[in-house]
Amino acid sequence: MAASVLSPVKTEAQIINNSMLEEDPNDNSATNEEEKIKPRWGPYHKGAKELAGLYSRGKRMQEIVCVCICITLMVMNLYFMALHFKFEKVTTIFLVALAGIFTADFASGLVHWAADTWGSVELPILGKNFIRPFREHHIDPTSITRHDFIETNGDNFMLTIPGLTYMTYHFCFKTNDEVQNNYYWFSYLYLLAIFVSLTNQIHKWSHTYFGLPRWVTLLQDLHIILPKRHHRIHHVAPHETYFCITTGWLNYPLEKLAFWTTLEWLIELVTGCRPRADDFKWAQKRE
Ligand SMILES: [Zn+2]
Ligand SMILES: [Zn+2]
Repeated sequence: MAASVLSPVKTEAQIINNSMLEEDPNDNSATNEEEKIKPRWGPYHKGAKELAGLYSRGKRMQEIVCVCICITLMVMNLYFMALHFKFEKVTTIFLVALAGIFTADFASGLVHWAADTWGSVELPILGKNFIRPFREHHIDPTSITRHDFIETNGDNFMLTIPGLTYMTYHFCFKTNDEVQNNYYWFSYLYLLAIFVSLTNQIHKWSHTYFGLPRWVTLLQDLHIILPKRHHRIHHVAPHETYFCITTGWLNYPLEKLAFWTTLEWLIELVTGCRPRADDFKWAQKRE
C-alpha cells in the first residue's frame, strides 16, 4: 500500500477501516501458503529477532543511569516548584503547563517520525542504540509490552535530563525574585519534561490489552493520554502518519495539514533520500 507524497487527507474512520482490512500488526493471518507457515509480524519475524538481539549490556547501563538521574531531578524540582508556588498565578500556570503537554506531543511526533523515516540501524552509535527500537516496534509491535520499566523509558528519561538540570540549577543558585520571574517558564518546562519522560510508557499502555489499571484505561478513554484505537492508525504499513504518541492530540491536525508528507517531500527533494527505506528493508526480512 504505497501512499503518494501529498496524498489526500484520510479520515480517522477510513484509516481504521483500512487497518482492519489490510494490516493488523498483531494479526499473523496470511493469504498464501508460504505466508501461512512464516508469521509476518511478531517475535518470530526474522528481523524482529535480530533487532531484539542488538539490545546490549552497555545500552542497558546507560538507561539505568539516565532513569536514576532523571527521577532524582524530577523529585527535587517538584519540591522547589511547590516551595515557590503562588496561588494567584494558578490560571496562567495551568495554561503554560498545557502548552508544555502540547509541545511534548509534538516532540514525540517529530522524534518518532525522524527515527521511523530516516537513518538506518547500521549508523554508528545512533543506529543500534536509538533507531533499532523503532524498527523492532513496527515488525513486532507487542515487544514493547514485554520490555520492563528501564528498557521502555530509559531513552525518554535521558532526553529530559538537560532541561531538568537547568531548572535545578536555577532553583539552587538564583535569587527568589529571579525564580519568581521564571516560574511560568519552569512550569512549562516541567510539564514538558514529565510528558516527554512518560511518552514511551503511555505508548506501551496503548499496546497493552490486558491487566491495565482502571485509572490508565480511564485516561485513555478520555483521550488525556494516547488511546489504543487512535494509535493503531500509525501501525498500518507503511507507518506514514499519526506519529505523535504522548497524547496524540496533534495527530489529526498534522494529518489535515499534510505536515509529515510535505516535510518528507522537501527532504527527498533536497537530499534524494527515500523515506522509510531502512524500515521497509527490515520488514522484508524472511528466514
Ligand atoms: Zn512508528
Ligand atoms: Zn506503537
